[in-house]
Amino acid sequence: MVLANFLTVAGLISVAALLLWQMHTDAGNRSQANANSLVQVLGRDIARNVELYDLSLQAVVDGFGRTDVAQVSPELRQLILYDRAASAPGFAFLLILDTHGTVVSGSNQSVPKGLDRSDTEYFRHFAAHPDDDSLHVSPPAISRVSGQRMIMLSRRLSNSDGSLAGVVVGGIKLDYLRSLFASVDAEHAGTVTLYGPEGVILMREPFDQSVIGTSVSEAPSYRRMIAMREGNLVGPAMVGEGERWFTFARFGIEPLTLSIAVVPATIYAEWWQRALGLGFVLLGLCAITAGLTWLLRRELGRREQAETRLVAANARLTAQATTDALTGLGNRRRFDEALAQEWDRAVRGRRPLSLILIDADCFKGFNDTYGHQRGDEALRLIAGSIRAAANRASDMTCRIGGEEFAVILPEIDAAGAEVVAERIRAAVMGWAMPHAAGPNAVLTVSCGVASVPEVLAHDAAALVAKADTALYAAKAAGRNQVRIAEPSKATLRLVS
Ligand code: GH3
Ligand code: MG
Ligand code: MG
Repeated sequence: MVLANFLTVAGLISVAALLLWQMHTDAGNRSQANANSLVQVLGRDIARNVELYDLSLQAVVDGFGRTDVAQVSPELRQLILYDRAASAPGFAFLLILDTHGTVVSGSNQSVPKGLDRSDTEYFRHFAAHPDDDSLHVSPPAISRVSGQRMIMLSRRLSNSDGSLAGVVVGGIKLDYLRSLFASVDAEHAGTVTLYGPEGVILMREPFDQSVIGTSVSEAPSYRRMIAMREGNLVGPAMVGEGERWFTFARFGIEPLTLSIAVVPATIYAEWWQRALGLGFVLLGLCAITAGLTWLLRRELGRREQAETRLVAANARLTAQATTDALTGLGNRRRFDEALAQEWDRAVRGRRPLSLILIDADCFKGFNDTYGHQRGDEALRLIAGSIRAAANRASDMTCRIGGEEFAVILPEIDAAGAEVVAERIRAAVMGWAMPHAAGPNAVLTVSCGVASVPEVLAHDAAALVAKADTALYAAKAAGRNQVRIAEPSKATLRLVS
């Protein structure tokens, strides 16, 4: 039972461990899958927006180079050039700068013409690289036109001969990007970051003003990320301490990279909670099982003890019920049972069986002379003599009446029984206990012996009767002697 319980508990723990291991793996996989899909969805969203913004810029670039557009009225020209600018959400405005960095026109009428923007990062970029006809993304900065934080997108404008005619620039409102990022459940996703050229952080969720615009181009994780373009990696945090699981992809216009960085501990935080919960429940179950096992064992032990005590008590009672209190020999009841049993056995096995009946001589006189107390002592002396003479394990010695005793001797024939009877008689006389009323002045007994197969007896009672007859003969012949029942002349046939 203990083993079964132990196996149950061990099985329970194994199943729980397997379950937890699976949950652990699932948590990792789920987090990875979440991050992957988030990067794809958010990245595609951003890429689409930037593409939209770039289309606005390109519309200006295309319109700017057309001679027919140059010839229309300024109002119409304004409409043609900036037609697309209005359609992009989060796009602030468009400006056209000339080769000196001076604002020539803008999508918004309120743009101050003639404003000098030659010190801006994008203007300096195109001044330094007049042949760069790709989209240029600037680090976040505060717009001098709107006062808002913006990421500037710019493209060069060409003259008809291909030389630099100026720059067209548009601003993405950082707040717009921020609202886009905020829709991400960052608590589960980790840190979502958009990197511009040179590893400049364009946006980050959870939002942290202090890191926007800083460059992580030297961070080892960023370098690996750029080298891999898209995928997953485990590496040191770019902002902050510790290890992160990065999921990242590069989108649309080349220099934009989006990453999700997760602290490994947060992935398994929920798992830990469940593991601890399950662990406690399991521990409780094990404790209860152990407790119940212990209680059950104790109860079974108690019952076993009680049963043992009961059996012992029963045995004692049975022994008491069949024992003579004065002499410790078997009593009459025991004698009857034993004789019936031995009779059956002897008949079944056709084995010899002897019975000795012993009677104290003139015992009434002994009592009268010495008192009942001494009489009892004399009876105990006789009992001791009988017990000593019939000492085989199978011999049965009993006190069957007041001063009458019997010995059942299985497997013993008449000759053997006579020896035992004689030994008893001699032993009692040998004590030389004074008996003034007796025939020999000392305590003596008379014995009658009957044995099968020597005598013919139909049943146990018949055997007793034969022994009694022999005893009577011993008394009649003067007491203190052994008499054997007359052997039957006829051939003995044992009948049960
Ligand atoms: P006999 O030699 O013919 O057997 O004579 P007896 O006196 O022994 O025979 P009887 O049957 O007349 O007397 C038996 C006596 O045994 C009567 C009684 O006083 C005595 N006796 C019976 N049981 C006990 C006992 O438990 N204790 C004592 N002290 N005496 C007992
Ligand atoms: Mg008697
Ligand atoms: Mg007697």
